[in-house]
Amino acid sequence: MSCHQKSRPPVLLDPVSLWRSLTPEQQQAIGVPAIIVGVAYHQQSDDLAWNWEAALTEAEEVMAAAVFETPIAALSLASAGHLCPDLAPIGVRMCHSCGCTDAVGCDGGCHWVGAHLCSSCGGARGNSP
Ligand SMILES: [Zn+2]
Ligand SMILES: [Zn+2]
Repeated sequence: MSCHQKSRPPVLLDPVSLWRSLTPEQQQAIGVPAIIVGVAYHQQSDDLAWNWEAALTEAEEVMAAAVFETPIAALSLASAGHLCPDLAPIGVRMCHSCGCTDAVGCDGGCHWVGAHLCSSCGGARGNSP
């Protein structure tokens, strides 16, 4: 579902800490299909001789199932719908109030008014960061 919860900021999920908390076996179970997903994402439209769509779909299912076997799933369930991933570790600027980014802004458009605050969330309250 959406990260949009204007009334209450989400709890930021720290993907780096979570990754480091996993066993090597859990990291392999998630990381190997993640690599297939990443490669397939860029290949599927370029290489019609190979069904990358099938590879992407299968790898996503395997990866999601592997995540479900780790503490990540338990944390997600415990956080009652306000958990959103921190995108800073993958180099993406994100509004900490609603979760929008440069590539995926709020409906109607928004801009940055703080380091981690967009105009949709901060504009109505003035310029407080
Ligand atoms: Zn926002
Ligand atoms: Zn926004």
